[in-house]
Amino acid sequence: MSEPQDCLFCKIIAGEIPSTKVYEDDTTYAFKDINPKAKVHVLIVPRRHYANVAELAKADPAELAHIAEVAQSIADKEFHGAYRLIFNTGLDAGQTVFHVHAHVLTGEKLDE
Ligand code: AMP
Ligand code: ZN
Repeated sequence: MSEPQDCLFCKIIAGEIPSTKVYEDDTTYAFKDINPKAKVHVLIVPRRHYANVAELAKADPAELAHIAEVAQSIADKEFHGAYRLIFNTGLDAGQTVFHVHAHVLTGEKLDE
């Protein structure tokens, strides 16, 4: 799949827009959310562009599983393994960037 020129997260992955890296490997990049909703708020993205989690699940389920593993490892380091993992999907669910991303909220006890 080609990477859209106007995709904010493709530009972050390419290093064209700065970000605070938390983790990276060949397929996956993780960085701090610019507007954190918890003490630790990290976004995990596949390097390849998919619009949402359902597209990713269909095209590359191993990458989706890998994102869950990366989330766990961040929470293991930051907060004894406890975390919230969120994929906002669709405008009316609050998705604003249409490059699939997992929100990892951790680092403190979270409100229910
Ligand atoms: P969503 O609303 O689920 O699409 O999440 C998009 C997230 O990207 C929001 O939590 C924003 O705070 C975050 N965000 C937007 N621009 C940047 C940026 N340049 N660097 C880091 N996070 C960003
Ligand atoms: Zn993208």
